[in-house]
Amino acid sequence: MASDVVFFCKECGYESAKWLGRCPGCNNWNSFVEEKVNKKSNSKISRGISATFDNKSEVVKLNDIVVKNTTRIDTGYQELNRVFGSGLVEGSLTLIGGEPGIGKSTLIMQVCNNLSKHGTVLYVSGEESEVQIKIRADRLNVKADNILFLSETNITQIEDKIEKNNPKFCIIDSIQTMYDEEISSVPR
Ligand SMILES: [Zn+2]
Repeated sequence: MASDVVFFCKECGYESAKWLGRCPGCNNWNSFVEEKVNKKSNSKISRGISATFDNKSEVVKLNDIVVKNTTRIDTGYQELNRVFGSGLVEGSLTLIGGEPGIGKSTLIMQVCNNLSKHGTVLYVSGEESEVQIKIRADRLNVKADNILFLSETNITQIEDKIEKNNPKFCIIDSIQTMYDEEISSVPR
């Protein structure tokens, strides 16, 4: 396992190969901290989550990009479809933000139910137990048989479960509770 040092802005997460006095991301001064990154050769994803689970990016001509039949997936909520640009796009990654207690988990559970009509949904929670999730699902009358649940915060473990169960949708609640063991620090 090779080890490398990178620098992260502790305010906004900006990453740099060298220490910077002022962060180009958030303009804070002296916000950079050093972190060790362990590079595992068998990992498909070196850092973070990629929507396509493929970390090889190539430069392509904009004119050569073929727009495939992008069928939009109905979330079951007109308002939500509207903010997603008339539904979810396959292979896309969406971040839902909002104040604590605003009802994100409730909304997501209801969306889960609607998405399960289109394929298997894997719901990953880093904050709540199986029982807590089940109580919410029961309260919201979410009963689909193809909703899977995983209580996990380790991204490598989640990747592994995604590969094994091959869900059509994966919901992660919430992203800030997740950590990557290839980065030696605690979740920010
Ligand atoms: Zn910053």
